[in-house]
Amino acid sequence: MISGDDITPPGLDTLAVREALPRSQYGENSEALFLTSSFVHPDAATAAARFAGEQDGFVYSRFSNPTVSSYEQRLAALEGAEGCMATGSGMAAILLLAMATLKAGDHVICSQGVFGSTINLFGRELARFGVEATFVSQTDVTQWAAALRPNTRMLFAETPSNPLTEVCDIAALADIAHGAGAELVVDNCFCSPALQRPLTFGADWVIHSGTKYLDGQGRVIAGAVCGRAAPIHDKLLPVQRTVGLSLSPFNAWVVLKGMETLSVRMAAHSAAALDMAQWLQAQPVIDRVFYPGLASHPQHALAMRQQKAGGAVLSFVLKAAHAEQARARAFHVIDQTRICSITANLGDTKTTITHPSTTTHGRLREEQRQAAGIGQGMIRLAVGLEDLADLKHDLARGLHTLT
Ligand SMILES: *Cc1c(COP(=O)(O)O)cnc(C)c1O
Repeated sequence: MISGDDITPPGLDTLAVREALPRSQYGENSEALFLTSSFVHPDAATAAARFAGEQDGFVYSRFSNPTVSSYEQRLAALEGAEGCMATGSGMAAILLLAMATLKAGDHVICSQGVFGSTINLFGRELARFGVEATFVSQTDVTQWAAALRPNTRMLFAETPSNPLTEVCDIAALADIAHGAGAELVVDNCFCSPALQRPLTFGADWVIHSGTKYLDGQGRVIAGAVCGRAAPIHDKLLPVQRTVGLSLSPFNAWVVLKGMETLSVRMAAHSAAALDMAQWLQAQPVIDRVFYPGLASHPQHALAMRQQKAGGAVLSFVLKAAHAEQARARAFHVIDQTRICSITANLGDTKTTITHPSTTTHGRLREEQRQAAGIGQGMIRLAVGLEDLADLKHDLARGLHTLT
């Protein structure tokens, strides 16, 4: 931990740059990368004590590693969490938490607006192991309360959601969870701790895909679970040691460096996305724009209480007479771009453009998509850090030539 009488407690940007800076005997100023699978002990007795957990010291990189440990400490500091456990991906983080805190016969309530693989994890994979899941509306708190059962152990939310940018009331969900002896988990990928700190609103756990804004430059896959120190040590660590959902030290190092610029990037992404959302809203061919930073967003007030800014992700719907025309128009706008990357990824300096109904949400049935409000005329944009004038020009090429 950073300490010092003159800066107590350090601000988020100081922590992002300096927390858990590992220094070797060489005194390097940039984080060292400890790319090693195992660690050498001075003698057999020390090895035995370290394996038994009676003495501090690294043993094997499936359990922990100095670079991975720096990543964990820095992310924990940014989230205001007591602890953090790194995982090889965002999905591995959710699986690790589920394996460590749930058992067969337990019940989970999950928002239907969460990341597609999260829906499959709870709805399909964990169901095979006897964990039941109920999916409810992202924004209707009464549905969450009504779905509670005596065996409910976890409420899982992601806010804002993808691609509709629906916002959950974290404090209200935490009250519902705690009143029923359950825990609230919040997937904080879209905001990152630079914009939103779910633990401060009462969440018990925060999930991260380090792949997104923590890295911020689209280079590696990484994940993490942040929460209280005791359950991380007593429940998550033993599972992690056994099953090995571990993060590569190299990937940890990349994301550790990415975190240094997190809040300047998130501020720039958010400013660009707000400007872009306002510009899109003024286009006559666009029916609706979804962005939490817009006053027209249904949960704008709640979003601005929970989040410092709107974040990078927005979506918009093109006007069209029917679904077939809507899809053709969306494809036209996407295909006319020359700067935006046509990809389902986000969390990058590069702006990405996506047609959710045929990609990220393509595996849903049409009526599920209808229920989720994801039509054929919807386009998702994760606004990057290019010049905004160039991005508008790139989109205008398609928007202004719709037939
Ligand atoms: C990408 C993503 C995940 C999964 O993360 P991976 O690192 O790809 O496993 C989970 N939740 C959200 C909101 C995401 O965007």
